Amino acid sequence: MRLSFDRSVEGFRQTFLAWLADNRPSPEEMAADPALSSGHAPPWARRWTRTMFDAGWLVPGWPPERGGRNASPLEQLVYLEEMARADVPRSTNPQGLGIIAPSILDYGSEEQIGSYAMPILRGERTGCLGMSEPGAGSDLAALSTRAVLDGDQFVINGQKVWTSGANHADFCFLFCRTDPSAAKHKGISVVLVDIDTPGVSVRPLPELVAPEYPELNEVFFTDVVVPAANLVGTLNDGWAMANGSLAHERGMVWVSSVMALDASMRHMLDAAPGWLSKLRSGERAVAAAMVADLYVDTQAVRCLGYRGFGKLMRGGSAPEQALMKLFSSETRQRLGLVAAEVEGAASVTVSPQGARGPFLAVDEASTWMEQYFRSFGLTISAGSSEIQRNIIAEKVLGLPRS
Ligand SMILES: Cc1cc2nc3c(=O)[nH]c(=O)nc-3n(C[C@H](O)[C@H](O)[C@H](O)COP(=O)(O)OP(=O)(O)OC[C@H]3O[C@@H](n4cnc5c(N)ncnc54)[C@H](O)[C@@H]3O)c2cc1C
Repeated sequence: MRLSFDRSVEGFRQTFLAWLADNRPSPEEMAADPALSSGHAPPWARRWTRTMFDAGWLVPGWPPERGGRNASPLEQLVYLEEMARADVPRSTNPQGLGIIAPSILDYGSEEQIGSYAMPILRGERTGCLGMSEPGAGSDLAALSTRAVLDGDQFVINGQKVWTSGANHADFCFLFCRTDPSAAKHKGISVVLVDIDTPGVSVRPLPELVAPEYPELNEVFFTDVVVPAANLVGTLNDGWAMANGSLAHERGMVWVSSVMALDASMRHMLDAAPGWLSKLRSGERAVAAAMVADLYVDTQAVRCLGYRGFGKLMRGGSAPEQALMKLFSSETRQRLGLVAAEVEGAASVTVSPQGARGPFLAVDEASTWMEQYFRSFGLTISAGSSEIQRNIIAEKVLGLPRS
């Protein structure tokens, strides 16, 4: 059995790697003005997204006019593998690139595509995703932020929470209730709201990791008036779009979490000989066994990923998505913990701009301890571990609904 890609796919990989080497921002440029949190886009990051878009490398599977080059699914897979290894983000607005822009391209008007989706792809504007609320997270259909259609405008009142990057965003892709008399999953719509509209207020949430660079926010809407033309898709049919957006999100999480885990493992293996040589022999044996265990798990996730990918390519559904989300986020969490434990006291330095421990984590801008703290979010966002276990129980194992 030969487990490798064919020559044309490997040729695609080499073409991309050559382009990347010639065009990527330098580590010095990135370090001088780092992208500190989701949605924060320093000038180099905006330029870089635009450079990728212009060259057809931003979303290679899409047509050229939308930032792509009609790449085949396998070509997209090797592209994502190399991006995960490259230590440079495609965009510092992952929700915009991975969820909001594709959703607007699927459901939005030409005007919305021109004013909201394409500017995200060209690195000109950033969007945040307003789904979760204090009373609606896993059960998104319970959302209560209200948009009342009044002539040719909506009047919006309510609150969102955990909104990544809202403190840097130009607009919000806002899920709101437009028909409270309808059943829970009906009567939901999506409206585009510019963040500088009067009545919108963004409050960053205090964070344990790098508190000076908050990422998550509460967003309050008080009598916010937006044109009715900002409705995305059909009135009261936002649930279809919630499924669409979440499908984009799951697709993004599924592939990129596997690739990110793989890249983290490589960084750990690169650093491991250095760490291990500093330990006493008894400790070294225990630490080496933990690293080996993690390596086996990351390879298992990777194989599972290829299997799920193969199924999707043949047009089947892939319950592996839930397995991947669960296994990759929890393995990443263990990886951060093992690294932080082995690194010891040096790993508690958490400021991205301050002094830090000697063994840098995957993105070169954070410590392993920071990665470990952040990994808890990975087990919650895009569907918590408990929700993934429910899906596996019902859809993979065929157990009755709880
Ligand atoms: C890093 C990060 C970034 C995020 N970014 C965004 C964003 O940009 N936009 C946005 O809208 N939201 C965002 N979120 C919010 C995220 O979508 C929610 O946190 C998630 O959906 C869970 O909702 P919740 O926090 O309300 O928890 P809840 O749904 O209240 O769940 C609380 C606990 O109960 C468990 N639970 C819930 N239902 C069940 C069930 N049926 N069976 C078993 N256990 C259950 C959950 O697993 C969890 O442990 C982000 C979250 C994180 C951590």
